[in-house]
Amino acid sequence: MKFIFDAHLDLSMNALEWNRDFRMEVSEIRALESGMVDLPDREKGVVSFPAMRKGNIGLCMATLIARYVKPKNKLPGWNSPEQAWAQTQGQLAWYRAMEVDNQLYQIRTKEQLNNHLTQWEQHPRETPIGYILTLEGADSIVNMDYLHQMYKEGLCAIGPAHYGPGTYAFGTDSSGGIGRKGISLLKEISELKLILDATHLCDQSFWETLEVYDGPIWASHSNVRKWVPDERQFNDDQIKALIERDAVVGMAFDAWMMLPNWKRGITDPHKSGLTLETIVNHVDHICQLAGNSERVMLGSDLDGGFGKEQCPSDLETIADLQKLDHILTQRGYAVQDVENIFYKNGLRFLRKNLAD
Ligand SMILES: [Zn+2]
Repeated sequence: MKFIFDAHLDLSMNALEWNRDFRMEVSEIRALESGMVDLPDREKGVVSFPAMRKGNIGLCMATLIARYVKPKNKLPGWNSPEQAWAQTQGQLAWYRAMEVDNQLYQIRTKEQLNNHLTQWEQHPRETPIGYILTLEGADSIVNMDYLHQMYKEGLCAIGPAHYGPGTYAFGTDSSGGIGRKGISLLKEISELKLILDATHLCDQSFWETLEVYDGPIWASHSNVRKWVPDERQFNDDQIKALIERDAVVGMAFDAWMMLPNWKRGITDPHKSGLTLETIVNHVDHICQLAGNSERVMLGSDLDGGFGKEQCPSDLETIADLQKLDHILTQRGYAVQDVENIFYKNGLRFLRKNLAD
């Protein structure tokens, strides 16, 4: 079974906001949620540590995520950046506890990355799942001192925006530029040599970011606008610009980003014909633009606030990402291409851009 690097999981959000203990089997977590109706994905989660192990997903980018909402913003979120910060610190405390319990191992440097991969290959059962800390949406960074504090905790990547207008950039479903605060954040990120995550930036913020920022950049979980027309996905100019900057783009398995006209809570994965194979259209488009298979990775987002109700119909748990091996092969991808997409492209980028 091939190794998989997943470039986007919200593990700690599930632990603290969904009250999920990811050490359990997916089936056990679902059973515990039986009858709960507070969230649309109750009893339908697809991620847990055992499921990741079953799918040979031995490395992931794991998020800290908390939104600050200004008074007129209708999105859910915290009413001050300090509260958002505190939420991320709770999430960090959970990652630390999972390290103590040998479930997770935090990777900050190239050397740790290489050692982890060797360990995983030789002793997959005993080796904790490797994770690299990333911040999805920078609203919790009250000021640059807070960014430096996160850096000391091993933060390796950061996406300035999430949904809606943020402090440092405009995200999905909003529009605007990065402004003075965004520019100073980018300057600080580049001095710390953090990876910039372009996912969730609205078009204007995306292009302004590319102009201002000259450090390493990738997109952890973004699909193709040609197939799903919405600013959440990249258009061809954006994909080409990212390729020029040596980026890799992670494919997300959130139904509405795979198939056009998806209506949350209404469209049915089975009836709509959404399967894992649908992602190959997105993969293929980027490969065509790049002229090779070196610019695509998997950034599944499979625990990002949705479950089976909003997943490909042939995916029961995250372990089923392994089915893509056969699917890609059927679609004409060579072994080397599949390996590139499963882990080699992501690892090449990390080996180049993580700290020494
Ligand atoms: Zn996201």
